[in-house]
Amino acid sequence: MTRLVIIGPPGAGKGTQARGIADRFGIPAISTGDIFRENVANKTDLGLEAKRYMDAGQYVPDDLTNALVRSRLGEPDASRGFLLDGYPRTTDQVRELDEILADNGVSLDAVIELEADQEVVIQRLLGRAAEQGRSDDTEDVIRTRLQVYAKQTAGLIDAYGERGLIVAVNGIGSVAEVGENILAGLAARGLTGEV
Ligand code: AMP
Repeated sequence: MTRLVIIGPPGAGKGTQARGIADRFGIPAISTGDIFRENVANKTDLGLEAKRYMDAGQYVPDDLTNALVRSRLGEPDASRGFLLDGYPRTTDQVRELDEILADNGVSLDAVIELEADQEVVIQRLLGRAAEQGRSDDTEDVIRTRLQVYAKQTAGLIDAYGERGLIVAVNGIGSVAEVGENILAGLAARGLTGEV
């Protein structure tokens, strides 16, 4: 049972890597961004509310996001472990995650930090905009998302670092290379996904 978080700026490749690592460990990759996008597509109340923030490149309010994650982590598949992608993103979310885990008598094994510099991620996000037409991948919104990340999320890396949980990996390289580096970083901490 492995409990992981992956953190890094938008465009660092978190989603792709999260799916690969989660597969290896036999745990669900839980992306709050994907859950929000699914709700937007299905026009649920949560989706309608979240869309306003997402389109502007801002974070969905903590109370909505926290409730969503609490409920998702309560589903049976998450009892085997999980990889959270895109959560927590604020100090309030860190506190909530600590509480959820404490309520279940468990704790995080590691926080994967995917490093990527600003210019590289902007180029990647613009490329993705052209391919996928995501409504929050326009250049203005991308810059806002990077600023919001720097202001609200980057500091969480230090907080988790103080707990000795950070596995830092360079996010520049092929998907396979970066994936191997993440697996090596986790293995160095004794995390192999094998029981
Ligand atoms: P992502 O796919 O992770 O880049 O998320 C896309 C958008 O969903 C973000 O720009 C936010 O508007 C929203 N979102 C995803 N995760 C969170 C979170 N943990 N807290 C607040 N908003 C989030």
